[in-house]
Amino acid sequence: MKKIIFLLLILTGYSVNSKEMRNYVDQPDIDDGYNIHIIYALPSDGIDKKYDLNNQISMLAHQMDKWFNKKTKDRLFPEGQHLKFDRKDDGKIDITFLRLEIENLSISKEGINAVNIIQSEISRLGFNEEKKVYFVVYGGSNKDVCASSQLPQHVQRSVTANTAALYYPGKGDDSCVENNGGFKPEFNNTTRFALHEIFHVLGVVPKCAPDHLVFSNDGTINDGIGGHLTVPSDIMFSVQSNITFSKMDQLDMKSINYYNHDNDCLDLAKSRYVDPTVDNPQLPTYGID
Ligand SMILES: [Zn+2]
Repeated sequence: MKKIIFLLLILTGYSVNSKEMRNYVDQPDIDDGYNIHIIYALPSDGIDKKYDLNNQISMLAHQMDKWFNKKTKDRLFPEGQHLKFDRKDDGKIDITFLRLEIENLSISKEGINAVNIIQSEISRLGFNEEKKVYFVVYGGSNKDVCASSQLPQHVQRSVTANTAALYYPGKGDDSCVENNGGFKPEFNNTTRFALHEIFHVLGVVPKCAPDHLVFSNDGTINDGIGGHLTVPSDIMFSVQSNITFSKMDQLDMKSINYYNHDNDCLDLAKSRYVDPTVDNPQLPTYGID
């Protein structure tokens, strides 16, 4: 009997805690406000899988940051750098839950451009702080891609380009679950694509990078309009040749394109969105007005 009561207490306590933990608004910042704020967003007809409450999104963020820290060790800082995710005062990631007022089909059918619909919707719902960039785990599908991002350097400053999105579970060949690993405690393709898109919204790869990929046309649907490297082993390689996904495991190893270089182009090591942050850090570069 004692055992049963004890179990019941745990179960009740757990459900109360879960309710308390769900955040519908951006919590007070514990940093200078320049951070990557994560949103778990559902379409109006989407099923709530509680990824903000059951550690799936926190684990994804942890895996992305772990990889970034490993790849930046002994470069600009001996201990490496971390991604500046928005955190609460207990150190946990501040994830907002948001129910959008748009049906999944209207978002999914936009393919790589779905992120633009999501961005304008989260902005309308109050998530458009000038200092922040947003990483949205969208709990719906996408007809073409597992993840996509807005590219600040390809739009004018008057346009907002502050959002990257992961379409989860997604649907079809490019589903984040079917072929790309899903939420797992490892750096799989789901993690890789999420991080690739976050780098995009931070301004990577700058157009002036020596190895920046230039298309004679607009590229394939998955390549979009730019922001990629011609280096197959790099996480910012164009996804055009999709047989090499798992080899995309480097972060500008030559330090000439987007991390810790010595030219005037945008440098992720000097971004406001990484920690430690240099003096006079950079914001993503926008196109010319
Ligand atoms: Zn890309």
